[in-house]
Amino acid sequence: MTVTGRFASPDGTAIDKESLRQRYLEERNKRLRPDGNDQYLRLTGHLAHYLDDPHTPMTPREPKTDHVTVAFIGGGFAGLVTGARLKEAGVDDVRIIEKGGGFGGTWYWNRYPGAQCDTASFVYMPLLEETGHVPTEKYAHAPEILEHCRRIGKQFGLYDDALFHTEVKDLRWDEERSRWIIRTNRGDDFTARFVAMGTGPLHVPKLPGIPGIQSFKGHSFHTSRWDYDYTGGDPSGAPMEKLAGKRVAVIGTGATAVQCVPHLARACEELYVFQRTPSSVDVRNNQPTDFEWFAQIATPGWQQRWLENFTANQTNSMADEDLVMDGWTDIARRLRSKVMKLAPEDFTPEKMMEAFEESDFEKMEEIRARVDSIVEDPETARNLKAWYRQLCKRPCFHDEYLQAYNVPGTHLVDTDGKGVERITENGVVVAGREYEVDCVIYASGFEVGTEYTRRAGYDMTGRDGVKLSEYWAEGMRTLHGIHVHGFPNAFIVQPTQGANLISNIPHNLTEAGRTIALMIRHALDNGFDEIEVAKEAEDAWVELLLSGTGRLLNSPDCTPGYYNNEGQDAGLRARLNVGYPHGATAYFAYLDEWRTSGAFAGLEFR
Ligand code: NDP
Repeated sequence: MTVTGRFASPDGTAIDKESLRQRYLEERNKRLRPDGNDQYLRLTGHLAHYLDDPHTPMTPREPKTDHVTVAFIGGGFAGLVTGARLKEAGVDDVRIIEKGGGFGGTWYWNRYPGAQCDTASFVYMPLLEETGHVPTEKYAHAPEILEHCRRIGKQFGLYDDALFHTEVKDLRWDEERSRWIIRTNRGDDFTARFVAMGTGPLHVPKLPGIPGIQSFKGHSFHTSRWDYDYTGGDPSGAPMEKLAGKRVAVIGTGATAVQCVPHLARACEELYVFQRTPSSVDVRNNQPTDFEWFAQIATPGWQQRWLENFTANQTNSMADEDLVMDGWTDIARRLRSKVMKLAPEDFTPEKMMEAFEESDFEKMEEIRARVDSIVEDPETARNLKAWYRQLCKRPCFHDEYLQAYNVPGTHLVDTDGKGVERITENGVVVAGREYEVDCVIYASGFEVGTEYTRRAGYDMTGRDGVKLSEYWAEGMRTLHGIHVHGFPNAFIVQPTQGANLISNIPHNLTEAGRTIALMIRHALDNGFDEIEVAKEAEDAWVELLLSGTGRLLNSPDCTPGYYNNEGQDAGLRARLNVGYPHGATAYFAYLDEWRTSGAFAGLEFR
């Protein structure tokens, strides 16, 4: 569909939609690469040291050879909330297996300076009401979130049987004994009646495949393994005094770079930020929590109400009010107000898509105007403007990132969509110019489009020796994103094929955790050894998912990135990478009814 016309930008000048579309397309095409996900380097072999844990030394321990009721793979939010719900349901015997040296998942690893949540803490941080913790800021910083993870672990007794610095290497269904056999890199070989997995979408760091990357003789690390021994400072934002006099390169300008660049700008003598695609950086407006206000809103059930309100606002269910008021609900509010202005006869899918596009153009014009209003150097400002629809890439919110480019010694090196040309012994080359640096920091993100089993670090062998990688060869197939036929007593905790609410991942996880605890309790109470989704139920769910319209994030028309498989149409795989077609609010309501009815339709209990 093509809609032509003009509308007003924030400064009142007319904007030609068609020329904007054209510009977006040109910028996208400039960045498309035939190698897609293969452009990135996997951190194995001589690059494996980039994965070393800088936070906690490994403690020796004896291998486990026992049996537990539930084993959970992953000690991030998914494992913590599911573990907590299981403990609440009286399932005491829960063993969390985690590759990091402690709980926290993404918050265990990502301790780079300035790390903080981008979704309001009151909905982002799980189990606030249960633990009594009140976030100190609207957007909590990483140390507070990590501490909250530890709080959940302690309160629900999840440390008791946890295995840290442990990676599952093999997971095999034992048909005769109806249990899973779990083997790890620490020599463990134990069994579990049930396994659940929450290995996270963004936990395998990747490096850009820049020629010469291994020849660099200076220091280098990935942002998820921040080397405070080298930089000085600490995760709470203490000045990185060891960077005084140092020349530092940051490669990448995604959500991580947006948060750490202001800290680096203050600390380094020269900071070069190498940009392939600019992020959209909207207002952050962080604030300390007003505890008097909180005391008023914190009536029983407050967090669930807030979660539901956030989700309703996000998914265009008609919420009367916006309790959360963050950057994400702002995007949805604007869109809704545009749609609501349509005349009744214009409530057609085409007109609604047109309103969506217009609201997006307006928002992005504001974000581009914001760059001009902050960044002093006109060329830098021009290069920091994002030319794509806001949800094509992860939207960012920050009040110091753009300002960092006004700090003397901080330089944006734009690569015009091409990426860094080369890395040498001494530095980084763009457009034939070598920038000599002492340290290269890779803010280059995490594996997303690669095989699930590759990212998890293990394959799963289910009934009749079928591997999960084989069963999912054409794409993911589940019921609710949780159950897979042929893999009894195994549950996956993640958003896809469920609510798929990307603006608040923890909400997906807490709902999945609650559901899994109820199912396991039901099986234990009734003496069932096995829970498995029937093939027909799984097929019907997949069919329902495919009947939806998909989502904008998958669109190959967007500028390439991990949201859209680097701009390559992944066919059925991408079409299966979706959520419930009626939206997240409807999904949570459906799931609640499904699990509380006690019938668990589609599951077979044996
Ligand atoms: P991203 O994958 O978002 O960013 C990687 C960056 O590296 C991109 O800017 C990419 O450019 C750039 N890059 C890749 N290859 C090259 C190259 N050859 N030359 C130059 N640049 C290159 O990783 P992040 O760690 O920033 O973020 C990952 C995700 O983690 C976020 O999207 C978000 O979901 C989450 N996150 C959440 C936070 C929060 O909630 N507070 C904070 C930080 C991260 P290009 O865009 O062109 O591919």
